[in-house]
Amino acid sequence: MLTLRARHLFDGHELHEDRVVTVDGGRIAAVSGPGPADVDLGAATLLPGLIDCHVHLAFDASPDPVAQLDRPGLADRMRQAARQHLLAGVTTVRDLGDRDYMALDLGLGPAEGPEILAAGPPVTTSGGHCWWLGGQADGEAAVRAAVRERARKGVHVVKVMVTGGQMTEGSHPHLLQYGPAELHAAVDEAHAAGLPAAAHAHSPQGIAHALRAGFDTIEHCAFWTEHSVEPDPHTIAALADSPVVVSMTAGIVPVPGLEVPAKIRERWPKTAGVMRDLYAAGVTFVIGSDAGIAPIKPHGLLPHAVRHLVDTGFHPLDVLRAITSVAAGACRVGTRKGRIAPGFDADLLAVAGNPLSDVTALRRPLAVYRMGLKV
Ligand SMILES: [Zn+2]
Repeated sequence: MLTLRARHLFDGHELHEDRVVTVDGGRIAAVSGPGPADVDLGAATLLPGLIDCHVHLAFDASPDPVAQLDRPGLADRMRQAARQHLLAGVTTVRDLGDRDYMALDLGLGPAEGPEILAAGPPVTTSGGHCWWLGGQADGEAAVRAAVRERARKGVHVVKVMVTGGQMTEGSHPHLLQYGPAELHAAVDEAHAAGLPAAAHAHSPQGIAHALRAGFDTIEHCAFWTEHSVEPDPHTIAALADSPVVVSMTAGIVPVPGLEVPAKIRERWPKTAGVMRDLYAAGVTFVIGSDAGIAPIKPHGLLPHAVRHLVDTGFHPLDVLRAITSVAAGACRVGTRKGRIAPGFDADLLAVAGNPLSDVTALRRPLAVYRMGLKV
């Protein structure tokens, strides 16, 4: 048994002052008012361990992560990436695309890495976005078979590439990869297996298709067109009216001397506008850093993503909920992650200062606990 005291406690919903958390057997046993504790964290804030809803442990954040996949030692690099998240206070990651289902079985103990919720290889078309991860399936029957295979392998979520993406030669973010029949089939099979379905969708049409097909989360949701960014107010209103959760792709760590391609950089101001439109409409959102895909997206990026959204105009309290309790719900672990409350897993993060008045506090972790074990 262990007791921790901190001046502030964010429980996943609200901020409280001066609380003592009792941890027993890897779980939170009690949260009580001021009193003595084994560990006094002083003026720190205690939060639930953070949840990054979109990472790629198989990508090493190098200039060409796709080429690195074939280099020996991939499992070791994935374990290292997982550890970087944990050290940053991210105690749960959702891996939305690996090779050979490797993220499902990295063999890390609780104090060695975050809990990993993995999709395995994303379902994509032949030659489509991320086809080199091994998830190619064309037509309704093949898509159904692909989802069933993932369920048999024990994935936690099914990821479908609804539109093309950036990292794949010959794939275009503004173009659809699948028609409504295949998308409905994917969602239908995922739900039949008790799994949430995540749609990678950049374009307005892709987002609208994903919403109609019943996907549980829409990743990116950036309303990218061929040459610009064009948010569609009708689709945004429909997203806000639906139970769908939008996973905002946020967070960048500038790398000195590294140029972000102009065609991406030029879209940033409008992409920030889309985020503000989604937020103003009341869309339920979480954050996916897409860690690993580029040097500006290192593993453990989530605290930077929080700053990014606050700078974009989001209220810090909404963002903190998005990376704890709301994220846990979207990842279907809401009964044991994302909150500091009796019965929940003792995944905890202590940071210097109060992240509600200064979100950069999240980048100053003082202690991380995973299932009650100090990391
Ligand atoms: Zn991704």
